[in-house]
Amino acid sequence: MANSYWVEPDVKFVRQLKTMGGDTLKKCYQCATCSVVCPISPEERPFPRKEMIAAQWGLKDKLVGNMDVWLCHQCNDCSTYCPRGAKPGDILNAVRGMTITEYAWPGWLGKIVPDARFWWLLLAIPIAIFLVLLGATGYLKIPEGEIEFAKFFPTLLVDLVFVPLATLWIPLTFGIGISRFMKAIHNNAVAEGKAKRNDLNIPDFLKSLVCTIPTILSHSKFSQCTANKDRYLAHLLVLFSFAGLFVVTNIFFVALYILQLPGPYSQANPVKIFANLNAIALLVGVILMISNRLKDRGPNVGKGSYFDWSLILLVLGLVATGGLSELTRLAHLPSIAYPMYFAHLVFVFCLFAYLPFSKLAHLVYRTLAMAYSRYALREPCE
Ligand code: SF4
Ligand code: SF4
Repeated sequence: MANSYWVEPDVKFVRQLKTMGGDTLKKCYQCATCSVVCPISPEERPFPRKEMIAAQWGLKDKLVGNMDVWLCHQCNDCSTYCPRGAKPGDILNAVRGMTITEYAWPGWLGKIVPDARFWWLLLAIPIAIFLVLLGATGYLKIPEGEIEFAKFFPTLLVDLVFVPLATLWIPLTFGIGISRFMKAIHNNAVAEGKAKRNDLNIPDFLKSLVCTIPTILSHSKFSQCTANKDRYLAHLLVLFSFAGLFVVTNIFFVALYILQLPGPYSQANPVKIFANLNAIALLVGVILMISNRLKDRGPNVGKGSYFDWSLILLVLGLVATGGLSELTRLAHLPSIAYPMYFAHLVFVFCLFAYLPFSKLAHLVYRTLAMAYSRYALREPCE
């Protein structure tokens, strides 16, 4: 006789899942079509049907600590073929959002970042910090003469905010979140007999991580999808333009503090050209993302949750204010250029400060889960 298993449904978790975009989960009648049509699902312990059962029963521990949820690239082939309109692709996306919230530190920030009721608070925090900083240092005014952003918001003040964010806040909060996540997926893998051993062997795991990177960079899993194949190009553009802008920021940091070469830099400067090309690629990528999400793909494919859209709109705001502040500076329009620069810094703050709690965190969570999946011998490194 099979062992009995006492199921304690977490009704609160089911309710939260519905508000994160998983409102169709009760429609599933377990036909398994989704697992059959998913181009990425492995033969052994395929998804997403088993996750649909866990979601319907509110089995939170089987979902938030489940590496398989992160192997899904939300291509929506499963949702397209689901005979019940249960949108399994959207359910897994909602579970990923809840995983980021579950392991977030500090927990209150993890809860308010994906909550549509608090968008104004997230914007108000940097606005208040900047106004206090500028007011206290006597810079709260539009400067006279040639437009130079450093005359309005001194570089030292910008760095006073962003250097601690990048070097302390992000590593600390992200580090705590992902270490909790790794512990959970490892414990689950051990409990299910998937892990090679009970301890997490760091050198073996790092080897798996290294051989996962080419898959991430080439988006090769994404390209196996059918229904949402066009999202492949948009994702690639956004990923590589962010990487390019990260490189540019570091070059300008070195130019300013080590080589003592303050801006503004000429438009003919090769680094500036590279920066502008990346900004254009980011704008094109985010516009493609918006048009892809708004496309009518039939009633079974959703258009995304607040969690998805808040990041897309943040990146759009970031690139639009960055471009407009530069263009209005060149056009000598100080009354537009300075407020645009202020708005741009607010968006940069939101991107940095809320990164470990936003949809952007999926880049790191997914990379680690894919590496762990290899480590657990599903797809060993060559
Ligand atoms: S989500 Fe849809 S396709 Fe998958 S098992 Fe449920 S009803 Fe079937
Ligand atoms: S959204 Fe795509 S990758 Fe994810 S489970 Fe469905 S078919 Fe598979």
